[in-house]
Amino acid sequence: MLGLMQDWPMLCHRVIDHAGLYHGGREIVSRSVEGPIHRTNYKEVRERSLQMAKRLEKDGIKVGDRMATMAWNTWRHLEAWFGITGVGAIYHTLNPRLFPDQIAWIMNDAEDRFLFVDITFMPLIEKIAPMVPSLEKVIVFTDAAHMPETALPNVVAYEDWLAEVDSDFEWLELDEKTAAGMCYTSGTTGDPKGVVYSHRSNILHSYMAVQPDMMNLGSSDRMMPVVPFFHANGWGTAFSCPMVGAGMVMPGPGMDGQSIYELLSEERVTVTAAVPTVWLSLLQHLDKSGGDLPDLKSVIIGGSAAPRSMIKAFKEKYDVDVLHAWGMTEMSPIGTICSLKPEYAALEGDQRYDILTKQGHPPFGVEMKITDDDNKPIDWDGKSFGRLKVRGPAVASSYYKNRGAEQFDERGWFDTGDVAYMDQYGYMQITDRSKDVIKSGGEWISSIDLENLAVGHPEVAEAAVIGVHHPKWDERPLLIIVKKDGANPSKESILQFMDGKIAKWWMPDDVIFVSEIPHTATGKILKTKLREQLKDYKLPGAA
Ligand code: AMP
Repeated sequence: MLGLMQDWPMLCHRVIDHAGLYHGGREIVSRSVEGPIHRTNYKEVRERSLQMAKRLEKDGIKVGDRMATMAWNTWRHLEAWFGITGVGAIYHTLNPRLFPDQIAWIMNDAEDRFLFVDITFMPLIEKIAPMVPSLEKVIVFTDAAHMPETALPNVVAYEDWLAEVDSDFEWLELDEKTAAGMCYTSGTTGDPKGVVYSHRSNILHSYMAVQPDMMNLGSSDRMMPVVPFFHANGWGTAFSCPMVGAGMVMPGPGMDGQSIYELLSEERVTVTAAVPTVWLSLLQHLDKSGGDLPDLKSVIIGGSAAPRSMIKAFKEKYDVDVLHAWGMTEMSPIGTICSLKPEYAALEGDQRYDILTKQGHPPFGVEMKITDDDNKPIDWDGKSFGRLKVRGPAVASSYYKNRGAEQFDERGWFDTGDVAYMDQYGYMQITDRSKDVIKSGGEWISSIDLENLAVGHPEVAEAAVIGVHHPKWDERPLLIIVKKDGANPSKESILQFMDGKIAKWWMPDDVIFVSEIPHTATGKILKTKLREQLKDYKLPGAA
């Protein structure tokens, strides 16, 4: 017997309907790309999304068409996502920090028909557009007065283009499994792989994300997604905030410490989210210029491991809770968040920070397991690590065009490529990417643990650890340091700082200082490049 409940497809635009109707006055504040702060609300965003959908339909955009966006987080980008999904088309976010050839490759792979772009990126698009034959139109997120000069054909100002129709439109009724969004993974090797979100996965992911033990979002919150929409589905914030009617504060192009601080304090942001490097620049700004964060309750940090020193600084200097999160583009992206369950809630001091530095526990809807190389489960004993595998309704079942099929098994488990352990209460801790873990004498050393420890040194700005060849042990850790401005730590002082905090055999064999560590387009340490740069390096005594 089947249940007798209504078949109400989970469609993305239903979220903006809900926000517009029941939380209509809630503010959406953006630092506009043109400069001034812009204010709107969910009622207006809903209307303009409907107008956008109608305008797309007028241009002949159909279910399944790919619509690229290369834009900062602003109200226009938000309404574009809803307008696009509202006609059954697919928003396809492009990361402007990739090389032009890579972006062109991705656009050609996706066969994007339209591109929505901020004025900031016009010079880049002038290089890329001629390489993408499927591209029919470039719509610049601005008005006629701010349109840049360009020799590209078929370029229009968004506001003028939109104004050609009204908002009298009915969303398309779609199957909830219809594709809604697309984001290519920032693969450090091989071609990028397309992840394709459905309407259903986006909605289910939002239900997971807003729960009290996850992002803990509600209508009294003012959420600032500093994480760009073009990183890993914008961490789902474009759907989770309107789902609960949380106000949104959008940083636009202002990603530096001072601009972020201005919005956090002047717009009374209660929850915010971004990668560690953003928070490093905010904390440095606050150290230099002073300031406090009385309205901010929590900072969600993910994308790379949040160092313990950062979690402590937020709590002890500003009374802000860090929620350490782990996820992947392939997971929409949330996998785990580190809120404290009752088993850990009473811990204090260092023991509490020991838990808060873990990546946390999954919501209902994300299943996880840790296995050895033969797919045998590993105990959740808080120390034995292995391959982390996941499944769930907002986890990819394959990549676009079936690339990378070996990462998915027949029972639906996706091999994340991360190495992790679980403790008895289901808290996961990442120890490495499987290709970055250091294999020393048959045992594994976590490069992430060493990096986190090293950045706790007061004179270290950034640290990276790679395994380098050793004749006896196979590989040994090499620590690479960027010094803080004006500081001059010695190799000995760094090793002394680490001594006693990790097993002796984990201690790096050498420390070298560099002016810069290479990063990927999403801000992760680019270890392939570091290994390439240091390929002739020889460990002391290992020649
Ligand atoms: P992306 O799909 O670009 O977001 O990258 C996902 C990868 O980032 C994961 O597979 C992890 O290797 C890494 N990652 C994300 N969050 C964390 C975290 N909190 N700690 C350590 N690594 C992380």
